[in-house]
Amino acid sequence: MQNLCPCGSGLTYANCCEPIISGKKESLTAQELMRSRYTAFTQANVDYLMRSHSAKTRPIKERKSIEKWARSVNWMGLTIIQTQAGGANDEIGYVEFKALYLENGKPQQIHEKSLFQRENGIWVYVSGVHF
Ligand SMILES: [Zn+2]
Repeated sequence: MQNLCPCGSGLTYANCCEPIISGKKESLTAQELMRSRYTAFTQANVDYLMRSHSAKTRPIKERKSIEKWARSVNWMGLTIIQTQAGGANDEIGYVEFKALYLENGKPQQIHEKSLFQRENGIWVYVSGVHF
């Protein structure tokens, strides 16, 4: 059996987030980008996290601390709660999700509604509101 994608899509990594993270293909939807960013967090792939972040809000200065934090926790899974717009013909989209992880052995979660937008035609993460 091949490796399942960390984003929980049920697809193999090679058929899900890998081509997006490696730059072989662009995300078609905001949700695909969201999933690829979760997977990149599980890999502490801060290069991709920066690349998939809007140039306007990209947290360059926090790059090192994001990488360190992403490496320090155990990622447990992603649940997409709902999406609004963010489709192939949209310019913006919202994805509400929960990401579960263990930090110092304690279960934690990020419950966020993220805003995604196309920049030069490509989906990027802009910002998020936490619940
Ligand atoms: Zn995936």
